[in-house]
Amino acid sequence: MTTAQKLGLAALTDVTFERRGGDWVGKCLICNGPIAFDARTGEGATIEHIRARTRGGGDDLANLAAVHGRCNGEKGRRWDPRKRRSAEDYEAFVARLLVKRAERWRPLPQDPAPS
Ligand SMILES: [Zn+2]
Repeated sequence: MTTAQKLGLAALTDVTFERRGGDWVGKCLICNGPIAFDARTGEGATIEHIRARTRGGGDDLANLAAVHGRCNGEKGRRWDPRKRRSAEDYEAFVARLLVKRAERWRPLPQDPAPS
C-alpha cells in the first residue's frame, strides 16, 4: 500500500475528514489544527504511526493517522529514545492519541458482498 493510500484510509476512518474535490480536509490527530492533503498523492500530510513501528506499532488503521509533517517530526524528536524519557510517559502519550483516534473513528463503508 502506498503512503497516499494509507492516508486515504486514515481519513476515511476519521470523522473529522471530508472530501473536498480532490483533497481530504480534516484535523491533525496530534495538534487538532486544520490539515488538507491531496487524495491522489498524499501531498500535504504525513502518515503517523501512533505507536511507532520501532516500538511495536503496526500498519493497522487504528494505529494510523494523517498529521502535519511538523507534528510528526516533533513527536519523533520528543520521543527519541536517546532522550531517555520514561517508558511510562511514552505509553501515556500513545494511549491519549489512541483514545483520540478511537473517538474520531468512523467505520469503513461496507465492503461489497462477495459474488
Ligand atoms: Zn498537526
